Amino acid sequence: MTHILHRHCRESLPTVDTGEGVYLIDTKGKRYLDACGGAAVSCLGHNHPDVISAIQRQAERIPFAHTGFFTSQPAEQLADKLIELSPASLSHAYFVSGGSEAVESALKLARQYWIEREQPKRTHFIGRRQSYHGNTLGALGVGGNQWRRATFAPLLAPSSFIDPCYFYRNAMPEETRIEYGERAAQALEEEILRLGPESVVGFVAETFVGATAGVLPPENGYFRRVREICDHYDILLILDEVMCGTGRTGTFFAFEQEGIVPDIVALAKGLAAGYQPIGAVLLNKHIYHAINDGSGFFQHGHTFLAHPIACAAANATLDVLASGLLDEVSDKGKSFYQRLVEAFGDHQHVGDIRGRGLFWGLELVADKASKMPFKPATQLHKRIKHIAMQQGLMCYPMAGTIDGQQGHHILLAPPFIINEEEIQHLAERLTRSVNEAIASVS
Ligand code: PLP
Repeated sequence: MTHILHRHCRESLPTVDTGEGVYLIDTKGKRYLDACGGAAVSCLGHNHPDVISAIQRQAERIPFAHTGFFTSQPAEQLADKLIELSPASLSHAYFVSGGSEAVESALKLARQYWIEREQPKRTHFIGRRQSYHGNTLGALGVGGNQWRRATFAPLLAPSSFIDPCYFYRNAMPEETRIEYGERAAQALEEEILRLGPESVVGFVAETFVGATAGVLPPENGYFRRVREICDHYDILLILDEVMCGTGRTGTFFAFEQEGIVPDIVALAKGLAAGYQPIGAVLLNKHIYHAINDGSGFFQHGHTFLAHPIACAAANATLDVLASGLLDEVSDKGKSFYQRLVEAFGDHQHVGDIRGRGLFWGLELVADKASKMPFKPATQLHKRIKHIAMQQGLMCYPMAGTIDGQQGHHILLAPPFIINEEEIQHLAERLTRSVNEAIASVS
């Protein structure tokens, strides 16, 4: 009998006890290879000594001091480090306790920016279908995942949505990737013109879509065109790198690979590698100055913002990444992709393998030629997760929505410390889990 309201009330979960490298170990001693970092969180594995001792040291010094009274050394250091890692236009950081709070803060910052600039009619955000920005009402409002929105739809602020950059599903026959990316970005301009630019606060997008589409890397040129459109109509570009940032795709920010800089970027999951809950919003100097030189007050805040222990854990995580681990992500990613191709390249039910760095998605299809998804009733994602856990593998299968039908994906985001042998084990266990689950619905 539990007194916790678990998300899946009727599901009984193993109880985690300890962690060792890429493994989690439950109270019965069973080991689970972490192929998804929980949800792209645990980039340093589960017992990194540097982060643990940074947390201990900070807890002994000062665990909490309300930001209405004090700033703290770890928070100041973290802001310095993040701004040092950022392109020059990003000038300030704001710290919260997770991804939804980071997105929520980004939305409020964007809205307040226009108020400071005396443009109060800007109330509308444009988001993308099949994207997820968090579960608080503001973040949910700009996310395009229908299943997550449905229950709360009447409570959500009106936003509008364009398609994500999704070559596998949305490209026309004969269209090249570049042509498709250009066309996908063009949808933003059409939506801005439909709404009237003077009513739009900003465009919100995950640089790489994560949880709702099994990893969608942008096509080359897509975000350059998006940036041009935002600049042309004076619309803020808000990138959500809660999942794909902090090194996951091979560079600290995923947007670095797209040759653009957003006005605001949200980070979270990997920022303290799961050792503490933390999120961050980085903003550009125009937004900072509009607020600083205007009202002088960001009208938002939470009790636990810039929590010293969380900031200390993030500082230690960034130090580990900077000591060479971040540089390993791209190479390990290539070998990870090779193993996936060997395991699933010719698989009759794997339609697409896509990603970069250590952020990969498999799209599962009932029929490869027509790309027809498995029926929602199969609940294939739940079966895969269940079988994988039995096999001692944590992976992140999910159901998205494709043309109103459900589709199934598996998201893979292992800790950056994973080695070749572990990648091999991961691929073997994943193959067995996928095959067994598909056999059970065929
Ligand atoms: N944004 C993205 C892209 C996410 O993937 C998530 C979580 O999965 C969030 C925001 C919300 O983060 P959190 O669950 O920490 O509130």
